[in-house]
Amino acid sequence: MSENDAPQDGSAAEQKMRFLFALRSRGVTDSRVLSAMEAVDRGLFVRGLFAERAYEDMPLPIPCGQTISQPSVVGIMTQALNVQPRDTVLEVGTGSGYQAAILAHLARRVYTVDRHRRLVREAQELFRELGLVNIVAMSADGSFGLPETAPFDRIIVTAAAEDPPGPLLAQLKLGGIMVVPVGQSDTVQHLIKVTRLATGYDYEELRPVRFVPLLEGISSE
Ligand code: SAH
Repeated sequence: MSENDAPQDGSAAEQKMRFLFALRSRGVTDSRVLSAMEAVDRGLFVRGLFAERAYEDMPLPIPCGQTISQPSVVGIMTQALNVQPRDTVLEVGTGSGYQAAILAHLARRVYTVDRHRRLVREAQELFRELGLVNIVAMSADGSFGLPETAPFDRIIVTAAAEDPPGPLLAQLKLGGIMVVPVGQSDTVQHLIKVTRLATGYDYEELRPVRFVPLLEGISSE
């Protein structure tokens, strides 16, 4: 079913309005980000038991013991990334594919990697169904980035690292931006915005967050 065929009865339209209102009230104000988030139906990325809660501003479980992030956090991260239409973006942590689908509306090309093959496979199916042909999804340990496609204009990490991974810093273009949650898992994590300058890296702390940890290696699942 395409966006245009979607039922536009009172409840669906109202749900969407409430969703966008919640995003705005939590600081997502960039109109391009809001339009991209309006265009991507989160309900398609949350399957099973929790699907009916897809439009609430909360993280929800997805297969492989992972989570789809809270929409307002997705919005804040996407906004901080300041994606431009000609950008090539790397996402580490495909998960459900929701964040990648939003990025696909804003960037020229999106590479997204996850250590769980199953998540990559399911996200690929969704991207195909949605006609998001500018996303390349693959299973890989994203801590090492994608040396063969680097450098990137933007990098977004959606799992918490103890420090911004060195290979990712190295794969950022000059003037490029990386957004990454940093901190020990289950304790305090902060969203960090890293900008690569001619003279080095600039680090800006945005806000406290809570993400699943960035783990080593590819999972067997
Ligand atoms: N962005 C996702 C949510 C990601 S949850 C969404 O929109 O739904 C974090 C994801 O990071 C998990 O799927 C987990 O498998 C993945 N991950 C953790 N460590 C990783 C690593 N080293 N390389 C690639 N993916 C990793």
